Parts: sequence; C-alpha cells; structure tokens
Amino acid sequence: MDRDRRSRVPRTDAVLGDARLAAAARELGRDLVRGVVTRTLERVRDGELPPERAADAALAALPPTAASLHAVLNATGVLVHTNLGRAPLSAAARAAVDAAAGCTDVELDLATGRRGPRGTGALAALAEAVPAAGGVHVVNNNAAALVLAATALARGREIVVSRGEMVEIGDGFRLPDLLASTGARLREVGTTNRTHRADYAAAVGPDTGFVLKVHPSNFATVGFVADTPVRELATLDVPVVYDIGSGLLRPHPALPREPDAAGALADGAALVTASADKLLGGPQAGLLLGDADLVARLRRHPLARALRVDKLTLAALEATLRGPEPPVPAALGLAGPALVARAEALAARLCAAGVPAEAVPSQARVGGGGAPEVELPGAAVAVARALAAPLRNGRPAVVGRVHAGRLLLDLRTVPAGDDERLAGAVRAAAARTPRTATAPDTDDGQG
Ligand SMILES: *Cc1c(COP(=O)(O)O)cnc(C)c1O
Repeated sequence: MDRDRRSRVPRTDAVLGDARLAAAARELGRDLVRGVVTRTLERVRDGELPPERAADAALAALPPTAASLHAVLNATGVLVHTNLGRAPLSAAARAAVDAAAGCTDVELDLATGRRGPRGTGALAALAEAVPAAGGVHVVNNNAAALVLAATALARGREIVVSRGEMVEIGDGFRLPDLLASTGARLREVGTTNRTHRADYAAAVGPDTGFVLKVHPSNFATVGFVADTPVRELATLDVPVVYDIGSGLLRPHPALPREPDAAGALADGAALVTASADKLLGGPQAGLLLGDADLVARLRRHPLARALRVDKLTLAALEATLRGPEPPVPAALGLAGPALVARAEALAARLCAAGVPAEAVPSQARVGGGGAPEVELPGAAVAVARALAAPLRNGRPAVVGRVHAGRLLLDLRTVPAGDDERLAGAVRAAAARTPRTATAPDTDDGQG
C-alpha cells in the first residue's frame, strides 16, 4: 500500500471522537462502535473510501441495536416460519414486554407489599381462554411441556404411543428421543398407518404412566390409514396426554383438521400440551392445560423450576391472550381479494418507480405451525430473482420465496401497514442491483 495513503488514514480514537459516534457508543456500547470504526478504517486503508468519509460511513454501518438479530419482513407466505422466529408478536404483546423489561411485579403483590405467586395474570388469561381446563401451567416450549409431563408422570414407567405418531418435528428433533431422555419407556403400539383402540388397550397395564397422542402437525397421511381418536382413548383407564402442537385454543374454520385445546379436553384428554408461538401467535412457550390434580403435580415437580418462563414471556403471553388478534391468526383470516388489491397497488407503485413488478396469485401456507394440507389463496408481487440477495441484506431485511425463476413477495404474511416499507426496501434493493438483472424473468445465475 502506498505510504501516502497510509499516512492519511485517521486514527480510530479520532474517528470515535465524532460527536455522533460518541453518542452511538453510549447507546450501543463502546466496543461495538469501535469494532465498526475499525472495519471502516480498513476500507479507507484499502482505498475503498476517502478518509474524510470515514465517520459518515461508520455511522451508516452501525447496527440499530446492540444485538445481532435483524428485523425481517416476512414475505415468504409461510405464516409460522421457524427460521424467522415463528409468530411475530402483536403490538399489545410488544408493549407488554417493554413494560415488563425493567423491574416489574412478577412475584410481588403491590397492594399488600407481600410476595405473590408468579405469573398469575398470564395463567388466569389462559384459564379464561380455555374454561374446560381445570388447571393450566406454562413452560419454555412444547418440548419442555412434554418433558415435564413424561418426567412427572411416567419416569421409570411406560408411555404408550402409536407407531404412526413417533414423529420428527424439525431440525432433527425427534419426539421419541426426547421422551426416552426423561427415563420413561416408550411402548409402541399399532403400525405406521393404522393404530386401533384395541392396540392401546392390549398395552395398557399397571406400568403405564400415560397414553400419548401426538398430532402429526407437519405431515399428512392418506390412503389406508386409521388413528384412534382421543374420545376412544379416554375410555382406557389411564390418563391421555395429547400434544396438539399448534396451540389453537378453539377450533378454527380455515383449519378443520387442526385439533384445539378446548375440543381435546372435551373429548376426554387429561392433559393437553401445545406451543404458544405457532397458531396462537404468542411468544415461545409451552402450554399445559387439563386435569387440576395432574397440572398441580407438574407444577410441584422439581423439574418445573428449570423449565419456568421469564417475565418477558409471561407479559407477552398475557397480552397475546387478552389483547387484539395477533398477526398470525389475523393473517390466517385475510380474504384473498384484499390481498390481490394490495399486490396490484404495490406492483403498480414499483413499476412507476422503474422496478419491474407484477401482481400474481400465490398460495400461502401455515408452515411450522401445522396444517400441512392447507393452502391459503392470496397474492404476491413478483420481482426479479436477482433482488433476493439484496433484499435479504437490506434494512429492514426482506425474505420472499423463489418460484418459477422469480422472487415472490407474498403479502399474506406482510402486515398491511408495512406495504410502504416493503416498497421502499424493494426500490432500495433494485437501486443496488444492475439494471439488466432486475428486468422480468432474468436469472441471477444461481439457477
Ligand atoms: C411444534 C411441535 C412440537 C415442538 O414444540 P416447541 O414449542 O417447538 O418445543 C411438539 N409437538 C408437536 C406436535 C409440534 O407441532
């Protein structure tokens, strides 16, 4: 590198002295800002940036928060996207999290000044939402709910489960392995495609902790298949634990095959487990609902302490249950024609701004939340596939899905109030992409 250029590279401390960067250091942390400045000065050293632009460039490169997670606009059309953090919280839940983030009365009765039970507000909201539940409890996620049930009710004993319900949930997470890790023995009954009440009845005995029913939330079986409904399992003389997966508390008209907590309890399940961050649309948590005595046993088990949720989760869950409809169930209920109108308006705006775009029909999906057989007809804005990477790397990041050589931005999963931000993000991405690559139907070479 030439000597002259090196001598013109400003010193890190000099750049950090910039009033704007000093303010950012107070907000984001000095080490974080120093790291950004150091990387910016590398660019000056490499001749990519004139020295007098260093402070401005460092300022532009600062992250919005001191954490590395980015805000993402989910334009995938997958309502519950596990890689994008599952359910986005409602505005009410975000506000509740913010209020609870400081010191809060999570275990204090402000009226008397005495210690109070933890999480009463969230538990009361859950109990009110599902009146058929004699008891309710909340743990870190559905996997934790199953571990607690298996440990407290079946450790050293047997869990009777159908061979058709020994499922893998995702990313190598297998329910049977999780249950076996608690010291319970799995007693498999029936076959992959058919399991009858008689199969369960023959296996149930003095060693049975409970019969487990698992909803196959991420696959569907067709053809010569039969499973035994909870209604029939409930006539066996042991508790039935039902993992309903998605966290629907009541039946949903758009998801006729998705079980719900109220229905499962009415059918005779002793205990229902579910995730709170799928179709319920809340924070990551595991819900346990059912027989008052069973739930009390789980709450009192020593393991419960290791699985308990924090104040932020309690705040978000209560606001999810009590507040206005959260984004996931709201997205599920959106009508197709309204989405088409939004897609046409957005495509027209992009075209007017010189970015080729077209409104196209699109099928959204529930995703990790369940109902694999359900397609949700709506609309997307199709843009050049070459925009996928710049959109992902923009702020806000936008994630769509590639279909038939184009990038589809499905509007069912984008809150209506965010159409403006989405348009801005697409224009910014197009501005950073060679013009020839944004023409319709061109490929970015990743083919
Ligand atoms: C999603 C799911 C789980 C895992 O739930 P987490 O909350 O991610 O732990 C377990 N069982 C079923 C049926 C599911 O759908």
